[in-house]
Amino acid sequence: MGLGDGSYKHRIDPRPHPAAAPMSAPMKIQLHDILASEDALDYAEPVEALNATLASGNHDYEFRAPLHVQVRYSRSQLDLFFDGEVSGRAEATCGRCLEPFPLAVSQAFSLVLTPATRLSGEIELAPGDLVQSFYEGTEVDLTPLVYEQVMLALPTRPLCGEECRGLCPQCGSNRNVGHCACTIETGDPRWSTLRNLKIYRGA
Ligand SMILES: [Zn+2]
Ligand SMILES: [Zn+2]
Repeated sequence: MGLGDGSYKHRIDPRPHPAAAPMSAPMKIQLHDILASEDALDYAEPVEALNATLASGNHDYEFRAPLHVQVRYSRSQLDLFFDGEVSGRAEATCGRCLEPFPLAVSQAFSLVLTPATRLSGEIELAPGDLVQSFYEGTEVDLTPLVYEQVMLALPTRPLCGEECRGLCPQCGSNRNVGHCACTIETGDPRWSTLRNLKIYRGA
């Protein structure tokens, strides 16, 4: 067995194991620990991967602290049941005025996971897909389940308040803070010239 025959390649695990367990670690439950009698967990779920997903989409949210997860779990034969609640606090960006504001998020959930083998390969999940309604292997990773619930709880368009007046379309200043000069200058002939140009172009 020489150095150049490639035999060492097979010893490398493609998935790196996390080094030391941090204060809030992704929560995995071993299948043999899920029993017919209900058990419960209360833990802090890290938000780094969730923030990465949120940043890649259109959602203007970021979590600055771990999520609080309370979950009860049990099994009936091969079906696994998870009931609980996830809560956290997001920094949201208002869809109208673009100002950040804190948003409390809380979502109750009730999930059933079935063995992946029952799907007989009909469903393929893309890498990073948050949807999971089945399990395989020897453990259940609660992280994607929890993340999905959080995503469901987030409003499609965050608003700092229903009464938010948004930004001035002309100068871009925050109309919640004060009146900009634009509203006063609407009668200015320079603006009316611009308006006429718009109308002319649209006709
Ligand atoms: Zn706003
Ligand atoms: Zn303005």
